[in-house]
Amino acid sequence: MALFQIAEPGLSAEPHEHRLAVGIDLGTTNSLVASVISGTAEVIRDEEGAALLPSVVHYAADGTVTVGAVALRDASRDAKNTISSAKRLIGRTMKDLADTHNLPYDLVDDPSMVRIATAAGVKSPVEVSSEVLRTLAERAEKRLGGDLTGAVITVPAYFDDAQRQATKDAARLANLTVLRLLNEPTAAALAYGLDNSAEGVYLVYDLGGGTFDVSLLKLTKGVFEVLATGGNSALGGDDFDHRVLCHVTESFRGGNPKAVFTVNGQPAQSLPVHILSAAEKRRLMQLSRAAKEKLTESEETVIDFTFDNGDRVELPLTRAEFNGMTCHLVQKTIAALSGVLADASVEPKDVKGVVLVGGATRMPCVRDCVERFFGFKPLSNIDPDQVVAIGAAMQANKLAGNTSADDDWLLLDVTPLSLGLETMGGLVEKVIPRNSAIPIARAQDFTTFKDGQTAMAIHVVQGERELVDACRSLARFTLRGIPPMAAGAARIRVTFQVDADGLLSVSAREMKTGVEASIQVKPSYGLSDEDIVRMLKDGNGRAEEDMRARELREQQVEARRLLESTRSALDADGDLLNAEERAEIDRLSAELAAAAAGDDVEAIKAGIAALTKGTETFAERRMDRSIREALSGMSVDDALFDETPAEEDKH
Ligand code: ADP
Ligand code: MG
Repeated sequence: MALFQIAEPGLSAEPHEHRLAVGIDLGTTNSLVASVISGTAEVIRDEEGAALLPSVVHYAADGTVTVGAVALRDASRDAKNTISSAKRLIGRTMKDLADTHNLPYDLVDDPSMVRIATAAGVKSPVEVSSEVLRTLAERAEKRLGGDLTGAVITVPAYFDDAQRQATKDAARLANLTVLRLLNEPTAAALAYGLDNSAEGVYLVYDLGGGTFDVSLLKLTKGVFEVLATGGNSALGGDDFDHRVLCHVTESFRGGNPKAVFTVNGQPAQSLPVHILSAAEKRRLMQLSRAAKEKLTESEETVIDFTFDNGDRVELPLTRAEFNGMTCHLVQKTIAALSGVLADASVEPKDVKGVVLVGGATRMPCVRDCVERFFGFKPLSNIDPDQVVAIGAAMQANKLAGNTSADDDWLLLDVTPLSLGLETMGGLVEKVIPRNSAIPIARAQDFTTFKDGQTAMAIHVVQGERELVDACRSLARFTLRGIPPMAAGAARIRVTFQVDADGLLSVSAREMKTGVEASIQVKPSYGLSDEDIVRMLKDGNGRAEEDMRARELREQQVEARRLLESTRSALDADGDLLNAEERAEIDRLSAELAAAAAGDDVEAIKAGIAALTKGTETFAERRMDRSIREALSGMSVDDALFDETPAEEDKH
């Protein structure tokens, strides 16, 4: 197996030089920065001692921008201009967002990425994220006492190309050099793998505020390999808050006998109808989250909500009730996790340890459920809030070249879906199979279908199915300038390359002339994790159906190829046949053409065999003629050099 070096060329540090590099966990809810200081990775705190920076940015009408806890305080007062969860929006369009939560902002549609209208103007999620990154970078520079060489920034495993690209843009806007984007669960595993140096298959269960990532990793001494990834980019602690919020709003309508109401300062049986203001919504969200977090420590809490006009609701909530209303969310994570295990053909009993990541994994219902599923306690000795930033800091330290070669470890990541090309008949030729370790480059040779063909259309697709229509189209481009040759004689080498950030480029090169065309593609632009799960499911259940369809298409292509070559042979050397022979070949051709138009595989095969046999004599005569011509020196180049280099070697 090929192993990939982490250190980029030119990034090795001079002896005794220490480059300042940080790891940043750019979270939906909270962000952190960490660095390796005196050989140990640690989270860098702000002046008040807080490690977590709420990923919240407030835009005031006068242009003042505040970030983090300060901005969060503005949230209930000025909800519309206080942007949280920008990570849910980054690299997404309105269409992508159709099934996620309603956010309390004025979203502006844009074909490239949704934007947010604020008092300080329309802001892109990239700008919002860059404010968070800038704040963390400044925090780190202050603490480390110098300019940063670069940062490793973590992203959810399922982030697609647009989202990754947008995250990089945010870093650039914040004047930060991105050493690499790293999947969050992988970063967590780095933190654990190095600290515990445990070997075996591990599962990383990351439930944050807005995303759920599950990764299956194989750890062997010094080497990390990601076996499979999965999850749900629209599931997280926020959804648990949302369940609590719905529970509270139901009580407004008298849906809960435990609710106690105060209206106009007096106890009341019911509540007048309230249309929630943005500020009320925001306050209610904060209360719901606080109640959820409280129930991690206590068996019971009381949600005490006051409307803008002073009306009030007090609603007791027990942990058991909370567990009941959120059980389906936990089950969803278990279902995704089972899928990843099945994908990698790993039984739960083969998993040696489970790493818990993300603040939401503090919830007892999550821990219990994971423990019940595996039959052992998950690992959580590194703070689940900090573990990603710590792993990222270690990686940043390596990439900046601060480590000696002998303690180098390697990191392998995987492609979530197969990448391939459309071939004749609408079939897919997979070039890079799913779950291949990246970075990876694979080349495959293709050839022309028609005599004299000078251009080739390259259609790049992604998915597990055999037929192009059932896969996702990623990009198309055309290779032109292929020298005219007989069908099948040209050699077109198509190279697929996926870089360490998961970005794909495809190039096609005609080997004799060196003419080349290439394209950068976005492997999963706009592809949600549901799409990926569906495409995987489709692929698994339909293997047999696909094989039958594939065989039919292959035979149809073969028939067309044979008809095509017969026709061009007749055009060129038809004079070698008498009228009777010619009529017989025409008849066999017509029969095959008719069979190929239908879907009877056996009839097509029979037609191919008949036409092949029926043209044998003709082919022999053509061969004789071409040898005669070659010997007379008419086309030695074409006849020998191009098509039979192997023969030459024998002489
Ligand atoms: P992200 O990676 O999305 O930024 P975090 O890992 O910081 O998220 O997790 C944030 C989530 O963790 C929030 O939903 C928050 O409410 C939840 N959380 C934090 N502490 C607790 C706790 N003690 N009990 C329950 N949930 C918690
Ligand atoms: Mg996180």
